[in-house]
Amino acid sequence: MNIVGDRFGAGKMFLPQLVKSARVMKQAVAHLLPYIDLDKERIAAAGGSVAARGKVVIATVKGDVHDIGKNIVAVVLQCNNFEVRNMGVMVPASEILALAKAESADMVGLSGLITPSLEEMAHVAREMERDEYFRARRIPLLIGGATTSRVHTAVKIAPHYSGPVIQVADASRSVQVAQNLISSEHREQYLAAVATEYDKVRAQHAGKKGPEMVTLAAARANKAPIAWGTAAALDRGCGCGHVSGSAGAPEAYAPPRPKFIGRREFRNYDLAELARFIDWQPFFQTWDLDGSYPAIFDDDQVGEAARRVFADAQAMLRRAIEGRWLSANAVVGFLPANTVDDDDIEIYTDDSRTEVAFVWHNQRQQTRKRAGVANKCLADFIAPKFIAGQPSGIADYIGMFAVTTGLGIERKEAEFLAGHDDYSAIMLKAIADRLAEAFAECLHQRVRRDLWGYAPDEELSNDALIAEKYRGIRPAPGYPACPAHEVKRALFETLRCPEVGITLTESYAMAPAASVSGFYFSHPQADYFNVGPIGADQEQDLTRRAARAP
Ligand code: SAH
Repeated sequence: MNIVGDRFGAGKMFLPQLVKSARVMKQAVAHLLPYIDLDKERIAAAGGSVAARGKVVIATVKGDVHDIGKNIVAVVLQCNNFEVRNMGVMVPASEILALAKAESADMVGLSGLITPSLEEMAHVAREMERDEYFRARRIPLLIGGATTSRVHTAVKIAPHYSGPVIQVADASRSVQVAQNLISSEHREQYLAAVATEYDKVRAQHAGKKGPEMVTLAAARANKAPIAWGTAAALDRGCGCGHVSGSAGAPEAYAPPRPKFIGRREFRNYDLAELARFIDWQPFFQTWDLDGSYPAIFDDDQVGEAARRVFADAQAMLRRAIEGRWLSANAVVGFLPANTVDDDDIEIYTDDSRTEVAFVWHNQRQQTRKRAGVANKCLADFIAPKFIAGQPSGIADYIGMFAVTTGLGIERKEAEFLAGHDDYSAIMLKAIADRLAEAFAECLHQRVRRDLWGYAPDEELSNDALIAEKYRGIRPAPGYPACPAHEVKRALFETLRCPEVGITLTESYAMAPAASVSGFYFSHPQADYFNVGPIGADQEQDLTRRAARAP
């Protein structure tokens, strides 16, 4: 394992091979453990030291369920002689700290994927500061996960704890960080360097002038120019609101009506069908292999590793389909909807449009745009309830969905882990994640062609689907066009997601982890964008709107 660790550190060996090597190591260790323990007793009895190289307690924070990255880090550290206590997902701060004490851990590692987890990580830092045990020993706190960053860690987490707080950008870097932290020789020098670096990050952040902003009122006055009421202009895609004479008299834009109003469940969806919709690109990122699929297979550096891990994935995917290891369930819903007060989408329980199911309070871009570029808000793509103070009479609709391919995964994962096979456990989760995204893609196509039915003749290759060459979007709460997660609560209630096996944690993470949810927009001009920073006026406006009864 020393050789494996060194080769990995030197970039001569890649993550999938490392994790596979761990399987061999763990199986051998499991076999030898009784003898190792005997040996340790003998050494200890003779007054020798049997302490492990370093001990790490690692957990996905409360409210979050994502653990592929964390499990990879655990294996990588184990391959480098660290003893790792992997506490799993949704672990409250009190439990993490209690175990770190009980185990005399040398460091604590936190992981999380969704943005609310960042706040939970800050909470853990505050709890460590409150506790004399951690403060006095300056037990390091490591921060990892896709939404974490060096800047966020330095600015928002580190100030809460007087001990070291260090962001670990990826699994391969965890080894060096951990080794520095347990090295009596390098530790102080390393910590001083990190402290200096983070001070600099904080100073840069504080001195950074944000982008130029406009008022919320000005942003609203510059919304996406959608020619409600003039379908002809829309169809030609000029999008600037005027109608040229050649198309004849302007007709009112009639949003397409879904084939049904309400919800529909899909149970035990055919995994083989879903597999055809998989986008393999992110799979290689999961395994820390840089390159775009399929060119990655010919890459000088990672080509061979990419080919092997892909072949393993194909083999497991086949076994998962044949053995029915995972069940795929989904629910889709369509409801009447109109935009009110510029940025809020009112979603009604039925066609009478009298009772509001819930209001989706959306954020609007507030940075100053070049001439001709709009300050967008998702609400711009749903027909307004009123135009110039008069009822618009435009009956628009919104769709909603939640899909999962993670039902039943624990059983198989437990089986792999019992066999000390982290490689297969991680591989299965990576495949389940791919299938969940594929399910979202597959269902979205059915929605366009049939269930909503505004594109009955759509014929697109999987590449074209991945490139989003179709009409309409499926924005997901927590993503850049709608960064707030809270609306998932109403979405899940309205769709009655628990009935198909998908639930929300207190931080709005979906369980099983291999789940996707979002909204459907049908408008031809609807697209993805990044809300970006918003002003204090919009913050206040959102608070006021959220407090208002639906
Ligand atoms: N083919 C990819 C799809 C995931 S990313 C995969 O298999 O992983 C694309 C999805 O992320 C979109 O369908 C949408 O649901 C969400 N998304 C991406 N950009 C977004 C944005 N700016 N705002 C809201 N949702 C976004």
